[in-house]
Amino acid sequence: MPNPLARFIPHLVGEFPKQFMDLFEKVNIPAENEKEEIKRLLWEAYDFGLNSHEGQKRKSGEPYFNHCVAVAKLLASWKMDHSTIMGGLLHDSVEDTGVNLADIRERFGEDVTNLVDGVTKLGGIKFTSREEKQAGNFMKMLLSVAKDLRVIIIKFADRIHNMQTIEYLPRFKQHRIAVETRDVFVPLAHRLGMASVKFLLEDLVFKTLKPKEYKNIESKIKSSRREREKYIREVSDPLQKELNKLGIEAKIYGRVKSHSSIYGKMVKRDKSFDEIYDHLAIRLMVEKVEDCYLTLGIMHNQFTPVQERFKDFIASPKSNAYQSIHTTVIGPKGRMLEIQIRTHEMEETAEIGIAAHWHYKEKGSLSKGVDLHVKWLRELVDILQSESSDPREFMNLLKIDLFNDEIFVFTPKGDLVQLPTDATPIDFAFHVHTEVGIHCLGAKVNHKIVPLNTKLQNGDIIEIITSKTQKPSYGWLNFVVTSKARTHINKVLMKQQFEESVELGKELMKKTLRRLKMKDLLTEIESSFNKFGLNNTEQLLEAIGKGDLTVRKILLKIRPEDEPKLDKNEDQEEKRFFNFARSRTRGITLQGIDNLMVTFGKCCNPIPGDEMIGFVTRGRGITVHRSDCKSLPLLKKESDRLVPVDWDVEKNDLFNVRLKIVGQDRKGMLNDLTDCITKSDLNIVSVESKVKDAVATTYFIIQVKNLRQLERMIKKMTNTSGVDYIERSGQS
Ligand code: MN
Repeated sequence: MPNPLARFIPHLVGEFPKQFMDLFEKVNIPAENEKEEIKRLLWEAYDFGLNSHEGQKRKSGEPYFNHCVAVAKLLASWKMDHSTIMGGLLHDSVEDTGVNLADIRERFGEDVTNLVDGVTKLGGIKFTSREEKQAGNFMKMLLSVAKDLRVIIIKFADRIHNMQTIEYLPRFKQHRIAVETRDVFVPLAHRLGMASVKFLLEDLVFKTLKPKEYKNIESKIKSSRREREKYIREVSDPLQKELNKLGIEAKIYGRVKSHSSIYGKMVKRDKSFDEIYDHLAIRLMVEKVEDCYLTLGIMHNQFTPVQERFKDFIASPKSNAYQSIHTTVIGPKGRMLEIQIRTHEMEETAEIGIAAHWHYKEKGSLSKGVDLHVKWLRELVDILQSESSDPREFMNLLKIDLFNDEIFVFTPKGDLVQLPTDATPIDFAFHVHTEVGIHCLGAKVNHKIVPLNTKLQNGDIIEIITSKTQKPSYGWLNFVVTSKARTHINKVLMKQQFEESVELGKELMKKTLRRLKMKDLLTEIESSFNKFGLNNTEQLLEAIGKGDLTVRKILLKIRPEDEPKLDKNEDQEEKRFFNFARSRTRGITLQGIDNLMVTFGKCCNPIPGDEMIGFVTRGRGITVHRSDCKSLPLLKKESDRLVPVDWDVEKNDLFNVRLKIVGQDRKGMLNDLTDCITKSDLNIVSVESKVKDAVATTYFIIQVKNLRQLERMIKKMTNTSGVDYIERSGQS
């Protein structure tokens, strides 16, 4: 009597449902001591799957979970590892039930979860186009989305069972699925060397798309069976005898070609079923490679070979690793017979192709096993495109350690794009076209808008949104990874910086000339670039804008006779004052960080007490401007480079300000000015005055607490009779 608990805890009482045991008996157990653990794991997946599909039915009316078990059984028959079989049991759990990936991860770990996730993702990709190129791209997409070849193998098992039960679907759906199978899964199975999968799927497609023709061939194969078996015995019996004499153990069996290949030949050669001679074929399987050649010799001794139909795929395997000897001989009654000779191991590879590698791995003949990651895809995709490439190379791809340095993503049209790991939509955009990169405004990954610094994942579909007015920003350099993107961004930014410097230079030059009342020299200055080793006016303006060259320096060179007018002393005085004023502080801080590399904008010459803003220059630290500096509007175009900065001062520090007061000379003027200052409760540090042509110029260095105090005092001073204007040093 069965244990009543078996229904709930069969793994504890040792009584499992028959459906589970049917599956488990097919599972390849690599080592006897792993048997119980594998059984426990498979049971957990089985139990989990069964519960998650509870109540669901397939179109055929049977419980949905039967499909999952059928898929798992196919995987077991291909001797897949237990993780893959668990993946098969759970492959529809996320798609169709309330279960999510986190549940599966918690129960079954990363490996199984990744397989289920891969199959679920593949399910989301629909093949629609009829174009052959699209089918090829679709294949590549499947591979890259899969990440792990075992995902594809689960997908094959899934597709086989779905095709086997396709009759329950509406006709139009049958057609769509069959076409997809024919155009994508059959060629993929072929390329991956999974012959048995390929023939199975091919016949299922044939049956779905041409049901009448399929039935016709099926019945003819059945009715000719007895005759065929008799004929094959006529060949194999004497052959077996000869082989025994040499001590070669061989398994000989006649095989019928697939329905679809027989039909294909009938159509191609316009012949009836009976006229197709080579639907008879014999396969011999032996232990060792040498035995293959010995067997071939015996075969050719007994029957006359058809010379041009001999092929040695053992010496030169096909690109999908298929190995076998093919020959055609003239058999009894003058009928042509196709012969295949191979070892058992070759047979396994020929039937389940890549899937066989998980089996060999367990047997230990593949040292490192098949890698489960992505790198092989790049070469795999290449090799899939050329049949002629070296098959050993192909198989090596399945063994090498994968360095995770490549990803594959797709354009919205389905074209494959290869990028380095961590690539972002910007890298993708520049890969597609430089202009697309330069004008990249935003990006959609898998139809969702994402930040431009998003790291792309294998299989993502990327769409770039562009705008003609968009330009690269400095921020992009922080996350792009391709040199193509970096080079182009730098190029554009340099050009931008150049244009900015030119504009700034132009502004500075005009201002200085206005102040010196030398505007008429503008053209002369503009054409003086060669005196400074520059090639054109723009380069001259750029040098001024960058601060490499001053207008005064230029004037001194082209009009040395005007030197007094340039008032060199004033220049020197001013510089001395700036240094003196700035020396009173400990420097500049940027959001509390000090020791910055700082230069002061020559356009506004900020001094302590002024409100400032910093402009981040590449490689030269921060240029500090007064926040009311007239060149700031120019810089503001790149607002991401403007940063708030502060003088590093104590709260009660006093600041030095240098004032220049110009006015008509009169008696008592200096006294009146000094009064303004002292009455405003400000200290005078130094005073200097000179008179020329009845115009008095006075310089004060005064100490202020803040700008408000200064402004009040200047207002008062402006009202003093005779004063024409007051200027703060550096302000123009
Ligand atoms: Mn399924």
